[in-house]
Parts: sequence; structure tokens; C-alpha cells
Amino acid sequence: RSKNGGRSIYTWYASSMDEELQLRRELEAEMVRALKLDGFSVVYQAQVGLGDNKLKAFEALLRWVHPEKGRISPEIFIPIAEDTGLIEALGEYVLNKACNDAALWSDTSLKVAVNFSPAQFKTGEIEQKISEALEESGLAPERLEIEITESLLIADTTSVVKSLKKISKMGVSIAMDDFGTGYSSLSYLSRFPFNKIKIDRSFIMNIGKDAHTDAIVAAIIGLGRSLDVLITAEGVEEEIQAKILRAGGCDIVQGYYFGRPANVDPANPHANIRCSSGIEETIQIETAS
Ligand code: C2E
Ligand code: MG
Ligand code: MG
Ligand code: MG
Repeated sequence: RSKNGGRSIYTWYASSMDEELQLRRELEAEMVRALKLDGFSVVYQAQVGLGDNKLKAFEALLRWVHPEKGRISPEIFIPIAEDTGLIEALGEYVLNKACNDAALWSDTSLKVAVNFSPAQFKTGEIEQKISEALEESGLAPERLEIEITESLLIADTTSVVKSLKKISKMGVSIAMDDFGTGYSSLSYLSRFPFNKIKIDRSFIMNIGKDAHTDAIVAAIIGLGRSLDVLITAEGVEEEIQAKILRAGGCDIVQGYYFGRPANVDPANPHANIRCSSGIEETIQIETAS
């Protein structure tokens, strides 16, 4: 079974352990081909600021359409790529693609966020890969953000801290992804140079419905304030969630309500993105009463 993400391809497709192993091998071989033959693509999901109702950034998300099996979720193929070492090449592809794409967006205030796997930090060449991607694309370092999960931090702390500090020094910002789901040790937050915390979708799903969740989300937002770190909420699907988050002081929202992961038109990156201005009026009325 997959150790990563708690989701197993066994439950997804295969009916025995042998079949799972077989399937993993097939997918791995097919991924190698896809990397050579342009079979992967990258889509972008909007991140919108609640303070000024403006589009702030896009998160790059990897997509793969298998020639026979069709669309395969990154939650399935990323863990396989991590186990087999393919993640290095795949990660480089996403990084370069995202930087090249973002460099063409007509609005140069927009950042691009790229997900990194812990495995990509193992080689120690990560800083170099990032500076090369920036150099070759011409993207300003301030426009790149990397998203990492807490699992990275339990691995090899000293070398990871070193890498993150170098990346941070370059002007690239660092976000902690899926916050609250991993081995959340608050000490990580002080030891690593984070600029942003992304509250996991599993919390956002239940805000306004469950008092405990509301309290946790409020506490994370408070933590962000005191650490001077921006807070993003992931998985915002409904207006009511955005309203609650805005009232609670959350900085940035991301989710289907504002925009699905999609292609970005470089000439008009703002197209098809719902900004948060629509929710402002309602919240003012509510707080005034
Ligand atoms: P993530 O980085 O936490 O990305 C957010 C995931 O939530 C994306 O799934 C996105 O499509 C989905 N999402 C966004 N808004 C909503 C919403 O309102 N409702 C719901 N139900 N889902 C929403 P996706 O693209 O399937 O990616 C899943 C995970 O795979 C990512 O989670 C990330 O951990 C990993 N991943 C994706 N692309 C890459 C990549 O290029 N490199 C690495 N290392 N991991 C990647
Ligand atoms: Mg992410
Ligand atoms: Mg996330
Ligand atoms: Mg996630």
C-alpha cells in the first residue's frame, strides 16, 4: 500500500497486492514515457486576496492523462513517482513549466506557487534547480512560491533548513501546505523560514458547521498573525465559507468557488476568476447589525 497521502492505488484499481505491484510498475513505465513524450501538463488554480479582492497568484497543479486509463489523479501518481525516484524529473518539469508560463502572464504582479515533494530535497540540488528555472525563464524570484508539506520537516531537519534558508534568501517565498493534517509540530513554524500557511481543505469543509473546526481555524489565523505569516484557506467551495474566513481575518482563499484548476490565458490571466468583492458587501451588513 502507498505510504503517502493515506490513499492506496490498491483500493482504486487493483484487487490484490500482486495486481497493485503490477499496476505500479505499469504506471511507472508509462510515466517515464509521458515525461519524454510531453504527456504531462500543468493547470493553474487562482489564489485570491480577501483584503483587496484581487487575484494574487496561481498554484501549478500537475495533470496526467494515461493513454488507456485516462485521467489519473496526482494523489495516485505522485506517490509512485516519489517511491521510484521519478519525482526528480517530474518536479523539474513542473518547476520549469510554471516559471516559463508565469513569465508570460501579462500581469506581472501575479505569483506562481509550485508544489515540492520531500523527495526533491534529498539530492541537495534543489536550490540550484530553482535558480536555473528562474534564470532561464526570466521570472523574478519574488514571483515564485514553493509549497511544501510538514512531512518534509520530520525528515532531515538540518539539511532541509539549510536548503529552505537558501531558497528564502533568493527571494522565493515558502508556504506550508495542508497545514493541520500532518505531524503538526508548532516548533517547525519557528525553525523554518515560512511566509505562508495553507489551512487544509479538511478544515475549510466544515467551517460554519462545526464549532471545533471554527475554533481551530481561528487559532491558525491567530498564529499566522503573531508569526507574521500569511494565511491561505484551501478548498473554498461556497460563498459562506469565504465570508466566514474573511470575517476571521484570513488573507487568501483558494478553491472551486473562486476558480477551478485550468489553463491560464497569458494575455488575460484574470479571465474566469471570481474575485472576492462579491462577498464584501454582505459581510459589512452582517457586522454592522
Ligand atoms: P495540494 O497541493 O493541496 O493541492 C490542492 C488540491 O485540492 C488540488 O488537487 C486541487 O485541484 C484541489 N482543490 C482545489 N480547490 C478545491 C475545492 O474547492 N474543492 C476540492 N474538493 N478540491 C479542491 P489535485 O490537483 O488533484 O492535487 C492533489 C495533490 O497532489 C496536491 O495537493 C499536491 O499535494 C499533489 N500535487 C499536485 N501537483 C503536484 C506537483 O506538481 N508536484 C507535487 N510534488 N505534488 C503535486
Ligand atoms: Mg499545494
Ligand atoms: Mg494543499
Ligand atoms: Mg491538499
